[in-house]
Amino acid sequence: MKIKLFDLKRQYRTLGLNLEKKVTNVLKSGQYIMGKNGVDLEKKISKYLSCKYAVSCNSGTDALVISLRALGVGKGDEVITTPFTYFATTEAIILVGAKPVFVDIDPRTFNIDERQIEKALSSKTKAIIPVHIFGQPCKIDTIKKLCSKYKIKLIEDCAQSFGAKLNNKHTGTFGDFGCLSFFPTKNLGCAGDGGMVVTNSAVNAKKALMLRNHGGIVRNVHKMIGYNSRLDEIQAAVLLEKIKIINRLNNSRKKIAKKYDDLINHQNITTPYRENHVDHVYHQYTLIVKNRVKFIKHMSSKHIPIGIYYPLPIYEQSALKKHIGKKYNLSHSKNICNQCVSIPIYPELTNDEVEFISDHINKFSI
Ligand SMILES: *Cc1c(COP(=O)(O)O)cnc(C)c1O
Repeated sequence: MKIKLFDLKRQYRTLGLNLEKKVTNVLKSGQYIMGKNGVDLEKKISKYLSCKYAVSCNSGTDALVISLRALGVGKGDEVITTPFTYFATTEAIILVGAKPVFVDIDPRTFNIDERQIEKALSSKTKAIIPVHIFGQPCKIDTIKKLCSKYKIKLIEDCAQSFGAKLNNKHTGTFGDFGCLSFFPTKNLGCAGDGGMVVTNSAVNAKKALMLRNHGGIVRNVHKMIGYNSRLDEIQAAVLLEKIKIINRLNNSRKKIAKKYDDLINHQNITTPYRENHVDHVYHQYTLIVKNRVKFIKHMSSKHIPIGIYYPLPIYEQSALKKHIGKKYNLSHSKNICNQCVSIPIYPELTNDEVEFISDHINKFSI
């Protein structure tokens, strides 16, 4: 059995013809940037998430940068975030000139531990960027209350959580901004790079619109220094097709996760914990494993691919040395980085494959 950690070709096989038609239409139209597909996609996504405004851009990373800039975060400001995430979350903070401040995670959910945020606040704290890691909403309602209390801006990194909900409300719609990524392997992915910011504030939306297009809305009128960060029409057209089936795609992930939950049964392996009142969209299915080195060997003996998301707390990345100004030692983040193993999960994974993988995991002798 040949299983990939993520297999986009399978999705193409079921969606291919439709996508090709849509892409060809864009090519024929001669309108490749800032056209009708982009506007339609923004409408569709704001409707899907039940928020007022959506502004497309070039990547999830740019969505974070644009949000920070739109909220006036920059030099001299601190931004609280999690060290257990993809590098881009922290990178965006540094790119706007601010300083990241790390708070440890809850080892069960891998999300930022909201109970530890208050003690990380300082007079310089301007914003918090929690991440809904692996598709499970963090305690965003509690974090939102903290932000209101201390007058701090809230930016949700939803790169892995498209469609996820807390108390029936979509991630991305709690904060001042929600940031989406359409990187191909994300739950809602395009055929290249793409991203979006969503917000309920007209002022924020207008700033984002300007920032993504060289600081202006009207041609040759530039009101701020912005970016070239527009989503192109081909990607928008692809996403307009994929948004039609996003519920089916996310439901498949949930079904696979449930099957893994039921089948994996091993004394030394912990399956993912799910909070109450959340709709978890399983961007990743991540196990906690004792003796990871041996486990990886065991999996590779049957050619089952695994992923390590993430091998290091972000503050240990060498690029950060001169940007964080203090030594961190956050024990839960460190432990999880040492023990986490993600196994294949994507909508097209078959029942046989899930059973095969689970079976082999259960045979692991530590
Ligand atoms: C993928 C990802 C990003 C960056 O998104 P890109 O579209 O690749 O720029 C940011 N944060 C998290 C948590 C991600 O997983």
